[in-house]
Amino acid sequence: MSQAPKFVFECLGENCPDRKCCNRSPVQVYFEDIRRWVTDQTINVVFPHLELTAESGYPMIILKKYPNETLCALFNKETKKCNIYFSKPISCATFPLGFNGNAFYVISKECPGLGKGKMTKEYLKEMRNQAKLDFNCRTRTSSALPLLQMLILQFFQKQSQAAMESLSEEDRKKIEEILSKGGNKSEKKEDIASANEDSGK
Ligand code: SF4
Ligand code: SF4
Repeated sequence: MSQAPKFVFECLGENCPDRKCCNRSPVQVYFEDIRRWVTDQTINVVFPHLELTAESGYPMIILKKYPNETLCALFNKETKKCNIYFSKPISCATFPLGFNGNAFYVISKECPGLGKGKMTKEYLKEMRNQAKLDFNCRTRTSSALPLLQMLILQFFQKQSQAAMESLSEEDRKKIEEILSKGGNKSEKKEDIASANEDSGK
């Protein structure tokens, strides 16, 4: 006798009462998502809603929320649909089944689709493959992001070093003078006023 699968799920879609998948934190984005969005031109829609954060202690690309809400900014409140449904992030397509490298787990037990419908072997296999894909993409992005962050910082350091080297001696002295005065605003105001007087403004 064949055993019924432990994980039973059917997405309620537009009839879902609370959209846990779009109210979770964080909604992670992977390099594979960005690559796909560039190819299918979804990037124009997504770009204003992307954010680089290190709140959890390590860098992560995430989707922003509506201000003071937990709802993903790409959820269309009028149509009750995702604005990029056909190219949604891998992490969204994976919800609510997760994979941690060793075992599968339920990301949110509050997903109303859990326990609904009939789970076929084929659909379960499809969901497990998607969860494994999510794990692999998350691992790759998480390990590459700190390196990318370091390279970007190095790039800007080199840019500012090159800019400093191209300055005239006089400009360099002015900058050093301003920096040495630190945050003393009143002193800076006097400098600006006297500079304006000197130049006759
Ligand atoms: S919370 Fe669950 S059932 Fe509701 S839309 Fe998201 S995945 Fe589907
Ligand atoms: S990208 Fe779409 S599916 Fe993913 S959380 Fe945002 S609105 Fe929901």
